[in-house]
Amino acid sequence: MMEVKGNKISIIGAARSGVGAAKLVKRLGGIPFVSDFSPKEKIFDAVNQLEIEKINFEFGGHSERVYESALIIVSPGVPNDSQVLQNARAKGIKLVSEIEFAYHYCKGKIIAITGTNGKTTTTSLCGHVFNSCGYKTHVAGNIGVAFSEIVLDVKEGEFVSLEVSSFQLDLIENFKPAAALILNITPDHLNRYENSLDKYAESKQRIYMNQDGKDFLILNKDSQSVMKYLTEHKSKSFFFSLNEEQEEGCFYSGNEVVFKLNGDEKFRCSRNDINIRGEHNLANAMSVICAAKIFNHENAGIVKGLQTFDSVEHRLELVREIKGVKYVNDSKATNVDSVWYAIKSFDEPILLILGGQDKGNDYEQIKDLVIQKVKKIYAIGSSAEKVFNFFHNDVKVEIEKSLEDAVKSASREARKGDVVLLSPACASFDMFNNYEHRGKIFKEAVNKL
Ligand code: ADP
Repeated sequence: MMEVKGNKISIIGAARSGVGAAKLVKRLGGIPFVSDFSPKEKIFDAVNQLEIEKINFEFGGHSERVYESALIIVSPGVPNDSQVLQNARAKGIKLVSEIEFAYHYCKGKIIAITGTNGKTTTTSLCGHVFNSCGYKTHVAGNIGVAFSEIVLDVKEGEFVSLEVSSFQLDLIENFKPAAALILNITPDHLNRYENSLDKYAESKQRIYMNQDGKDFLILNKDSQSVMKYLTEHKSKSFFFSLNEEQEEGCFYSGNEVVFKLNGDEKFRCSRNDINIRGEHNLANAMSVICAAKIFNHENAGIVKGLQTFDSVEHRLELVREIKGVKYVNDSKATNVDSVWYAIKSFDEPILLILGGQDKGNDYEQIKDLVIQKVKKIYAIGSSAEKVFNFFHNDVKVEIEKSLEDAVKSASREARKGDVVLLSPACASFDMFNNYEHRGKIFKEAVNKL
């Protein structure tokens, strides 16, 4: 990485990671300049923070000043083919992602976690389990705290559990995690990859491209696309599977989870020790067990960590139980695959709140499961009609004007033992600022019942 001290470095995109990167540049003695396309109102928090930090910035467009730098740090929200990046490339300016930049200043061991779904849950769980084993582990990435924000606090011998998106991976060069973990690859964000699953999947493979023989790669054996797109790598592979026994990795057997190294059993716990609900979370937990055992963490600490981890907010989060009806907030389910897992997580009949800003969803994948387990769908948002048209021949569907109305209608019709589940399969931007906002409105509506 180029010398930062005394040099100008531009940062494109003023979301959490952009602001984090700018602060890191400043702490390293460089001269950061942040440029964001959005109007001031949209990046209000960032503007506030940058003013406090006395970091120069512009918003509402990119001026020529952006190019007065030999290096540009690109936030994950900025598309690779955007004009500003094209211009920078044409001028020969080096472009790196925020994790690539921060990586060069990391003294600890990085567990980098990627996948289409489950990144945040697994990254938090990994941090929790490692800490419970007595190893100081920082949790960062696209998860509330940018890697750049914490990287200088990480000491040698400590760990970083790092959530990594494919956008971040697109612009890495030397990023080399001690362990890389790929949870799953299913269609999402394809608009950023020329609508090609191949391109999206290839981007995820970059997570291990710089690994060497001392590093580890943890893979979901059950995910066809994870296995199919795997390319040559020098790191040692471990696998996790819900279906088949593994000689090097973690698997499910009877009601127990087992980890083997070289065919020898090194860890065993009951499924009931894993506190988070659903098969997908069992898989997430198994991936974390692999990571913990690879670094030889003690079994008792791992089990304690698994037992004491609660679901992350907005991911199958139990909000409240009223007269025997559970209300569950899964606002983070922004694609069809995660709704499939959400529905699979309950034995109870489900009243499902579905819809929002459509991302080209194909509901065929969940149709049979919905018919089997969902009593009624409450369709919301700009895709409500699409949801109605797809399902109404097979399942009762009602279009609702708002999320609050959907909650009220569902609560009127729910019977003891039912689950009212917000798992929308869509982005939230048609009605809300983001998925957190959607989840918050859902919880408020539930708490008013
Ligand atoms: P990400 O950070 O990758 O978006 P989250 O942990 O925030 O992942 O979960 C996103 C959604 O996907 C939630 O609805 C969650 O219940 C669901 N989910 C979590 N883990 C998995 C998994 N392994 N496979 C499929 N869906 C999952």
